[in-house]
Amino acid sequence: MKIIDKLAQIRNEISIAETQFHRDQGSVCLLAVSKTRTVDEIIAAISSGQRHFGENYCQEAIEKIESINQADVIWHFIGPIQSNKTKQIATYFDWVHTVDRIKIARRLNEIRPEEKKPLNICVQINISGEESKSGISLDDAGQFIYELEQFKRLKVRGLMALPAPTDNFEEQRAAFSKLNQKLHDLNIKTPELDTLSIGTTQDMHAAIAEGATIVRIGTAIFGPRNARNDAN
Ligand SMILES: *Cc1c(COP(=O)(O)O)cnc(C)c1O
Repeated sequence: MKIIDKLAQIRNEISIAETQFHRDQGSVCLLAVSKTRTVDEIIAAISSGQRHFGENYCQEAIEKIESINQADVIWHFIGPIQSNKTKQIATYFDWVHTVDRIKIARRLNEIRPEEKKPLNICVQINISGEESKSGISLDDAGQFIYELEQFKRLKVRGLMALPAPTDNFEEQRAAFSKLNQKLHDLNIKTPELDTLSIGTTQDMHAAIAEGATIVRIGTAIFGPRNARNDAN
């Protein structure tokens, strides 16, 4: 299937899931995860009306962003953040989904160019509690978000997570449900948080059932990636 057809299919699936889980039509944003994909593949998706793209590797992303050079495309950084890459991330991206350290947030805030809008931030949560994974605990999220409020060049939008993979729908839902609940709790003090970045090709439906406002989909749009590039 061509990218244009896969995109149409996934948009249709999102729309059906919105209805099924009593979500408003259009309330779930499709983020096309284009890590390891070529400029031509991304342009095919842009030509099919796709505007939000997610990238994991800074150098690879910047080459593609410069080559595509289209102002109405919105670039999201969704990979682990190395501190020596904060300048490039703050300059080239519109969103960063993987903030989990104050030091990194401070640098992004310092570097975000004045002529650009504040950088949209999601706080990455480690929902499965695995030591090796990035992200802060659910318990620490409130305090962390409170600390981020000092950074005027950042706009904190909500929570992001990448739970341990499972094929079981109820298990997928249970993990996402904790994040959904947390966002509701945070909204009491911080009503402007409006984003839940959860769900990949494998668990998109469970994510939509649990309030996803951004789903991050790679494989279902572009086909399988080769293993070498999938280290995230
Ligand atoms: C690669 C990646 C995705 C997309 O995963 P697919 O299974 O290809 O849909 C989503 N989120 C993050 C953080 C990723 O690294």
